[in-house]
Amino acid sequence: MTSNVPSAARVPPCSGRAVVLEEGDELIIIDPMGEQVSDLTAFSRDDTAEYLSSGRSIDYASKLFLSTGDTLYSNRSTPMFTIVEDTCGRHDFTLTPCSKKMFEKLYGEQVGRPGCEGNLAAALEPYGIGIDRIPTAFNVFMHVAFDDAGNVSVLPPLSKPGDYVRFRAEMPLIAALTACSAGQSNNFSYKPIDFRVLRAGADITTDAAR
Ligand SMILES: [Zn+2]
Repeated sequence: MTSNVPSAARVPPCSGRAVVLEEGDELIIIDPMGEQVSDLTAFSRDDTAEYLSSGRSIDYASKLFLSTGDTLYSNRSTPMFTIVEDTCGRHDFTLTPCSKKMFEKLYGEQVGRPGCEGNLAAALEPYGIGIDRIPTAFNVFMHVAFDDAGNVSVLPPLSKPGDYVRFRAEMPLIAALTACSAGQSNNFSYKPIDFRVLRAGADITTDAAR
């Protein structure tokens, strides 16, 4: 599987898209050029007060780094996604999406860019989900390391061009994903992210993408 399939949709650099999924659909997030992070979040379509939970997922997996075979849970402890396949193997689920304030605090920008937080909120605005409800996302391809003293480092992603992660939706979801805007997270170049949606093996990307 490559990003060159004509049905892949593209998230342009420093932006976000929403995707509407049924239970059983597969969302494939592809890094077409390598070293590019994509923040993924999701809400239950039945009740958007139910959202993808970093804390629950790490707790139930008993590990920080989730990959093939692992389940991503909601705040109500219901499975939202299963990672079906992962050609990269290293992602982060601890740091919040990059944001306007983060760019002002950590990068010294006079007026911070919207970041993944703002881009996820913009993609989810049609579903009534505002910026204060954007949780810690599953940061696909993000390379965060922790040392024994608890120091946190954001390192260049380990993803190579064409690496991808396949997520199976375990409930009807409104999901949103970005091409991340944070320099340090993406080895200081802003690249696109590609994605596909499969339903029972058929490509429905065009129908699912918002
Ligand atoms: Zn970001």
